[in-house]
Amino acid sequence: MLHSTTPPWRQLAEQLRQPAAFQLPADQCRQCQEALPYFITDELADLPVDSLYPETAVHLDICPACLHEYEALVHLAMASFYLDEENK
Ligand SMILES: [Zn+2]
Repeated sequence: MLHSTTPPWRQLAEQLRQPAAFQLPADQCRQCQEALPYFITDELADLPVDSLYPETAVHLDICPACLHEYEALVHLAMASFYLDEENK
C-alpha cells in the first residue's frame, strides 16, 4: 500500500451522499422560533400563515424540535385565549 489518503473524488462522493434536507442550520431554528409567536397569533386569527410565513411553515414540517416548540406555544396561546374569553 503506497498511502492511505482518500482520493478527492471519493471525499466529494461522501459529501454528496449526505441528505441536504436534514442539515438544519442552527440560525434557521432561531429564526423559526422567533417567528413562532407571530405565526401562531396569525394562525389563531385564521390568517393564511403558509403564505405569510413560508419559511416557518416549511421549517416546522422538517424540524421536530421547532414543531415541539410550536405545539407548546399553541397550547399556551389557546389557554390564554380561553382565559380572556371567560373574563369578559
Ligand atoms: Zn428548527
